[in-house]
Amino acid sequence: MSGHSDEHERTMAFCDIALSQIKALRQPATPRNYEIWYSYATGYQPSLNQKINETLSQNGTLSEADLDNVYETFLAPSRLTDRINTVGSKVMGEIEQVMAMIDAAAGSASTYTESLADMSEMIGASDREGLRAIVEGLVATAKEMEESNHKLEERLSASKKEITELQVNLEAVRTESLTDPLTQLANRKFFDTTLQDAIAFARDTGEPLSLMLTDIDHFKKFNDTFGHLTGDQVLRLVAMSVKQNVKGQDTAARYGGEEFAVILPNTVLRAALTVADHIRRAVMTKELMKRSTGEHLGRVTISIGVASLQPGDTAAALIERADNCLYAAKRHGRNRVLCEADPEVLPEQAMQVA
Ligand code: GH3
Ligand code: MG
Ligand code: MG
Repeated sequence: MSGHSDEHERTMAFCDIALSQIKALRQPATPRNYEIWYSYATGYQPSLNQKINETLSQNGTLSEADLDNVYETFLAPSRLTDRINTVGSKVMGEIEQVMAMIDAAAGSASTYTESLADMSEMIGASDREGLRAIVEGLVATAKEMEESNHKLEERLSASKKEITELQVNLEAVRTESLTDPLTQLANRKFFDTTLQDAIAFARDTGEPLSLMLTDIDHFKKFNDTFGHLTGDQVLRLVAMSVKQNVKGQDTAARYGGEEFAVILPNTVLRAALTVADHIRRAVMTKELMKRSTGEHLGRVTISIGVASLQPGDTAAALIERADNCLYAAKRHGRNRVLCEADPEVLPEQAMQVA
């Protein structure tokens, strides 16, 4: 729904901040430095802002080395891929080492068996002194075996610890790649795959499935009045209201700029409408205030369209029906929830069929 000019204004606000930082700190206006300050202006990566703020408050400026460091840590384009590759190659390394240890252990076990066999052959032919030597030999071999077993155990438990840490790293990378940085909700990619899975599951089990699409009312005006940075804070707040009103099995995602979607498995239309209305009320009751200045910003409202899965629905069809309801909610005054069963939506569907 957001046009080119909206996007232009929104991103120009970040651009202005980025350039004024570069000017104020008299830094080289290179693409890399612009990217750093642009990301800072968006606030999408709180850890990047925290790092920059700490360095600024300590040193009053950012050296070339600090900038290198920030870029490499937070922005280098291959960062996520690099991290995935690092984790992957570490896992392979651990597996190779464990395999080598197992091979070595298997080798020493067979040597042990061979030496036991040699000694048992010798027993028959030995006198008292000979037996003594054999027993001593046996004890020494058993000791060696015990030591090598002990080493293997230690190595295996170190590997287990390492692999557990790698699993945690891998999970963090995966989560990051599926999370929207501004709102911390699921991103569009995660939404798309989750909806596909939910539809397949609902088809297999015959369970109901509902989908909700939300859109902030007159948000362009809000941005124009209070600025896009404040707009972004409001987006975070609306995202939180969505998240707080859905259950664990539901997926709340940032569907587009100021549009959120919620996938509600095992939920009939009626129940989804109730959830939607809770979210709508939660948003409209929040009195917005700019934290830095205490300025009162009034309230924002949202409109919501809700649809439930019909036999034969594809993901696109379900989304389209929820979107139709959302548009109907906009047309009928905003700050409301509509679904296909509502009369306001029906004429539109008829029009579409015609
Ligand atoms: P309505 O939905 O009630 O019809 O009016 P609207 O003004 O909200 O129109 P639309 O849904 O088309 O809104 C798009 C506007 O949302 C454009 C832009 O100003 C704002 N917007 C979109 N994405 C972002 C974002 O990431 N941050 C901020 N601050 N604003 C965004
Ligand atoms: Mg919109
Ligand atoms: Mg809107």
